[in-house]
Amino acid sequence: MNESHQYDCQAVFRRLDDFLDRELTPEEMTLVQAHLDICEVCAREQRFESTVLASIRAKLGQVRAPQALLDRIRLVLDQERRGV
Ligand SMILES: [Zn+2]
Repeated sequence: MNESHQYDCQAVFRRLDDFLDRELTPEEMTLVQAHLDICEVCAREQRFESTVLASIRAKLGQVRAPQALLDRIRLVLDQERRGV
């Protein structure tokens, strides 16, 4: 299968955290953004996550969050996303 020119919802969800952290390649960023432009479900998820991440970062202020904490926050987000 050669679908690399387009992401489906699953592909976007898998990359959402890295997208928000801007840790994807420019090509991946473009593909995720292209999907967010056409998919309200993923766009809503992206807005939700970016709001949560922003508020967490604001609360943490200048303190650098340990990676383990960030991983745990993402795990909780993943579980909520699947559970509800
Ligand atoms: Zn989608």
